[in-house]
Amino acid sequence: MAKSLACADMGMAGCPGSFTVETEEELMQHVQIHAGVAHPDLEITPEMGEQMQAVIKTV
Ligand SMILES: [Zn+2]
Repeated sequence: MAKSLACADMGMAGCPGSFTVETEEELMQHVQIHAGVAHPDLEITPEMGEQMQAVIKTV
């Protein structure tokens, strides 16, 4: 089982970023690194963290 998250699911229309890794912790790290590069204006708020939890898929 792996965890998967796509930027498009987070409301980032047009971003092809998607991540599939083994753990939710790792997923958060990937998202943070990606956000820093691709979405530098994006602030990761607690609300956004909750939203992420909601759209994470187990694949
Ligand atoms: Zn993105």
